Amino acid sequence: MKRGKAFIKEFLAALVVLTGIARATRAWLWRDRVAVLLYHDPDPQTLDRHLSYLRKICELVPLTDVYAPANGRPRAAITLDDGHAGNAALLPIFIKHNVRPTIFLCSRIVGRARSHWWLHPGSLRAGHERLKRMTNAERLAELAANGYYQDADDRPTGLSVEQMEAMREHVDFQAHTRFHPVLTRCSDTECATEIGDSKHEIEALLSHPCEHFAYPNGNYGEREVSLVRAAGFKSARTCDIGWNDQRSDPFRLRTIIVDDTASTTRFAAQLSGVPLFLRYLKDGGSWSGKFPQF
Ligand SMILES: [Zn+2]
Repeated sequence: MKRGKAFIKEFLAALVVLTGIARATRAWLWRDRVAVLLYHDPDPQTLDRHLSYLRKICELVPLTDVYAPANGRPRAAITLDDGHAGNAALLPIFIKHNVRPTIFLCSRIVGRARSHWWLHPGSLRAGHERLKRMTNAERLAELAANGYYQDADDRPTGLSVEQMEAMREHVDFQAHTRFHPVLTRCSDTECATEIGDSKHEIEALLSHPCEHFAYPNGNYGEREVSLVRAAGFKSARTCDIGWNDQRSDPFRLRTIIVDDTASTTRFAAQLSGVPLFLRYLKDGGSWSGKFPQF
C-alpha cells in the first residue's frame, strides 16, 4: 500500500515536471521572488541533490533577501524547523553549496537533554493530530499521562551546544518558540511567553540577535502576529503556500514545504506549489495557518 502510494506520488510529480507545469509556475508564480523552502530533518545526500538542482534554476539566498530588491532571477532561501540533531550532519552540504540556511530552534529543547514532544513515544500513543487540537494545558496533561514532561530531561532530539557552535559560522539560528506548542491553542500568557522568551533564550544561548520567528505547525492568527511584532522580531514565516518579495507582509512570510525525503523529480514538482495546493484542497484546509506540520 505504502509502495503504491509512493509510486503514485512519483508518477504525478513526473507529470508536473514533464508537462512543463513546473517550468510554467516558475515563470508565472515564482518569477523573481523568493521561495522560502521549509525542511525539517533531511539527510545530507537528499539535501545535496536538492541544492544541486536548485542551483541550476535559481539563486540561493539568505532569508533576509525577502527584503532585498528583485534582481530578475528566481531566488530560494533554505529554512529548517525545530533544530533536529540530524541537522548537524548537513554542515558540509551547506558549505559545499555556499548556502546560509536559517534554522528555527525550540529554545528549551536544543542544547539540553530534551525531546521534541512529537518524537517521544508517549505522544504516538496519544495521537499527534488529536493532541494538536487540544488546548495547550490539555495537551500537556495528556502527554504527562503518557510519560512526557516538556521541561524534564529525556532523550535529546535537538542540536547540542557543541553542534550549534560548530555550525554558527554557516547557519543563521532563529526562534521557533520554547517547546513547540500549537500557539493558537495556548492561553494569552502561554503564547506571549513562548514567543518572547524564545527570542531572549536564543540570544542568550548564541550571543547574537534573534530577529526571525517561525510559527510552530504553521498555526497563527492576529494575536500571534501582534505578539511576534511586540516581542521585537522583524519577520515570521508561516506554512502558507507562496513566494515572497518586498511587498510581502514580513510577519506572514509564505513558504514552500519540502518533503525531507523527496526524490529530485518530486522536489522539482513541489517547488511548483502544485502538490501543496492539491493537498490543501483535499484536506479542505483553510489558507491561513492550519497546515499540518511540525
Ligand atoms: Zn516545527
